[in-house]
Amino acid sequence: MFFIGIFVHLVFLFSIFDIYFKSPIVNNAVTYQPLHEPPADRLVLFVVDGLRAESFVNYTTMPYLRHVANNHGRWGISHTRVPTESRPGHVAIIAGFYEDPSAIAKGWKENPVDFDSVFNQSKYTWSWGTYDIVEIFTKGAVKNNIFVEKFDPYDQSFSSDKNTTLLDDWVFTKVKSFFLKAQHDNDLREKLQSKKIVFFLHLLGTDTSGHTHKPKTKNFLTTIKFVDENIKEIEQIIKDFYNDDGKTTFLMTSDHGMTDWGSHGTGDDDETKTPYVLWGAGVQTVQDNLKQLDPETVSMLLEHRYDINQADLTPLMSSFLSIPVPVNSVGQLPSGLLQMSLPNKAKAIYSNCRQMISQYNKKRLDVEASAISVLYQPFEPFDGKKVQEIISFTEKLLQDEQYEKVVKLSEEIMHLSLSGLNYYHNYYQKPLLFTVTLSFIGWIMCLLKFLIEQKMFAQTEMTRNKNYNLISTSKTADVIIKVFSVFASILLSLMIQVQGLPVQYHIYFLMPIFLWMYALTPVNLWIQTLYLLKNRRRIYLLGIEILCYTLGSMALGLALTHRWVLSVPLLGMGLWPFFAASIQSLPKWVWFAWPFGCVSLSIFSFMSVIGKDTYIELVVSAGIIWLLIHSLFIWRFLLSNSADQDAMRELIISIIQIFTLAASLQAIYVQSKRFEDHLPVSQTLQSMCWIISVLLPLIPLLYTKKFINRLLGINTAILNFYLLLSVAHEGLFMVTMILNVNCWMFIEFKLINLSNIKIDECTFEEDNSKREKHLACIDRSVSSQDFRRAFFFTLYIILAYFGTGNIASLNSFEIRWVLCFTTSFRPFIMTTLILLKTLSPFLSVACSFRAIQYLTKAPSGCLNIVVLIYSNIMGLHMLYHVRNTGSWLEIGTSISQYIIVQLITLFIVLINQIAKVLTEVEIHNSILTKLFKNRKKYV
Ligand SMILES: [Zn+2]
Ligand SMILES: [Zn+2]
Repeated sequence: MFFIGIFVHLVFLFSIFDIYFKSPIVNNAVTYQPLHEPPADRLVLFVVDGLRAESFVNYTTMPYLRHVANNHGRWGISHTRVPTESRPGHVAIIAGFYEDPSAIAKGWKENPVDFDSVFNQSKYTWSWGTYDIVEIFTKGAVKNNIFVEKFDPYDQSFSSDKNTTLLDDWVFTKVKSFFLKAQHDNDLREKLQSKKIVFFLHLLGTDTSGHTHKPKTKNFLTTIKFVDENIKEIEQIIKDFYNDDGKTTFLMTSDHGMTDWGSHGTGDDDETKTPYVLWGAGVQTVQDNLKQLDPETVSMLLEHRYDINQADLTPLMSSFLSIPVPVNSVGQLPSGLLQMSLPNKAKAIYSNCRQMISQYNKKRLDVEASAISVLYQPFEPFDGKKVQEIISFTEKLLQDEQYEKVVKLSEEIMHLSLSGLNYYHNYYQKPLLFTVTLSFIGWIMCLLKFLIEQKMFAQTEMTRNKNYNLISTSKTADVIIKVFSVFASILLSLMIQVQGLPVQYHIYFLMPIFLWMYALTPVNLWIQTLYLLKNRRRIYLLGIEILCYTLGSMALGLALTHRWVLSVPLLGMGLWPFFAASIQSLPKWVWFAWPFGCVSLSIFSFMSVIGKDTYIELVVSAGIIWLLIHSLFIWRFLLSNSADQDAMRELIISIIQIFTLAASLQAIYVQSKRFEDHLPVSQTLQSMCWIISVLLPLIPLLYTKKFINRLLGINTAILNFYLLLSVAHEGLFMVTMILNVNCWMFIEFKLINLSNIKIDECTFEEDNSKREKHLACIDRSVSSQDFRRAFFFTLYIILAYFGTGNIASLNSFEIRWVLCFTTSFRPFIMTTLILLKTLSPFLSVACSFRAIQYLTKAPSGCLNIVVLIYSNIMGLHMLYHVRNTGSWLEIGTSISQYIIVQLITLFIVLINQIAKVLTEVEIHNSILTKLFKNRKKYV
């Protein structure tokens, strides 16, 4: 069962990559040789890495390029897509498609797939830049026509005193010496004289400068000024080399933008808007009589502006050189930028159109070739017959020289092809989602069956009650289900084979069948269960319960993305005792305290994510509240029976804990104030915090095993550590949660109605009498109450993790958070501390849950299975919310949340083990006995 579970969850985990993350690249599509005359013989492409549009249009620091854009050239905004990273940006410019996040599944550094590019189609390409960019385009090239000169930007020689112009200087110097060398090198000069050639300069300096100095600073502006001057110089060198023959086109653009704080990756306007400037041969110039200024910019001419999408640059560059548009491109030629005669322009657009048809058609044929004809559903608006018709129709139009019609029709066909591509790209997504969903439900049914089997085993007398007629029918049903499953799996297997789908599809399609077969047989079990339920309780109540838990689990799943949703199950939880039958046994104060606690907890889910702002006063007040609670406890419980030796010890430890907490609060406050006043933080206080944190986990072990005493010790220790790492309201959240969890424990205790025992007499000790009986009688079977307990536990676990939005704090390093421990930037220590802080609320919840398990004598294995059921419902919900668009961070977060849900049970088992140690180990006994023994020896 355990290994099946692991296997099933692994399949669930990997299925998302086949469902959502597939490469959009079509292999082996036919290129189309364009018919128009090239307006240029060569193209020079400057990619100024990380230059955002704002830096170009709102500052006058790039005077030369601005002059070009406003006079004989064109400029505009090139809209990129997320993720705004260097690699996808360059792929969009040079290969014309927006790289799919499938790269995640296939590794980051390596080229995930071979694809066509402008460089690949050119006669020769020379490129200079960092190795990780220029090498993207050499791998797919088979013709050996791409020459690269690369450098490692992480090399020591570039890092000297943060001068980021060194990186660009390297590129410019290499290009200059390249053209010098060409004057003496005959072989090279011959190559340079050929047509359809490309020069590519990748300028990383701006990106590095933006990261280190931020885009609005003087340092950054110096870097782009340097780039501007050198582009002017390179243009002159190239013009001189070719004797000003007017056959060179220049293009300056950028792969992505940058935020004000020097980052990129997400979809901010600053990140997705990049500038481009186009000038030279074949560029449509503007007769600007009006000289109208663009109001969005600082003195840029509006008539020269022409906004495009980033991928459109690919067909644009191809058209200047009259080379085939790279087959994987989805860009549409911005024909307004081309200065050509109508026939030439029409032919250029037609070339772009044929490339898209070719790509679409290949994709269509790929799917069609393997699909079974009965089941196959073609893309109606543009099926095989229509493709042929349209090609011959446009060819005829070209022959008849009806160029205007060609332009119009081509543009329509391109739109059609793009939607067709999209259709076939996701062709298998729906069936896959369907089967994985079936598997999820099947697996949940299997888990339920497992629970029912245990229950049946515990209540053997029920199974005796046999109806022979029924048993024979159910046996026939079993046989039918099994035969049907075998038949269905053979059929499906054959179908997958015939369609030539990848091997893992067998698993996706066959798994639901096996899971359902296992879950449904023997049918008798389910019939018996239904009987039982029918006799015992009203069915509709059960229906409501199932509905509540399902909706609740889905809400928990939703909460991973929208934190406020957590408040819905929390409010439900607050109302719960009022529906419980034995509410009368609860003391009156609980009637108010419990709903109040739940509501306060839900308020935290509306608050902003911690980490951005600091309110140290909130942290300190949380500590003070806890100090009061702790003192109250001492006064109420410990002082009253201090005659006892154990109680005396507990009293002393409690007081020690109070002093430690007070000292920690003092440290938190002092350090924070010093940091704010820019004074050096105290080293002594830091070492004190380290000592306290090391001792903290040991202190609770000195308590006796009495529930409330031990729990108080544990919670004070956990809270103490947590506060040392807090910066804002999360301390208050922790206090509220601890109180709420313990209130829950109290309610559970009251509900089981043990009138003869008081809660302060219950201990974590296992009953000896029960242990002896253990062999004979099986554990108490699962009841509907356990479903509720498991749900509450799951809710608390999710709450402990997302209640204050902790996930964000894991991947950012803020010195502020670890002020009490270190002030130097040490990522490993910082991550460990933050991780421990994130884990500590779980521990608190898990310890109280153990107490509840002890009180209710719930079988813990079964509870874990119930938790697994809930996490599967959550997982099913998450399956439909995996994101495959957006920045790497957003995609990564959505994948990791899916993984978290998949692994949650494993995690709970782990946390329970730690909780077990904290609640059950006693060190004072062992220490005392050792001391005692030692003394005996010496005597
Ligand atoms: Zn970049
Ligand atoms: Zn960057």
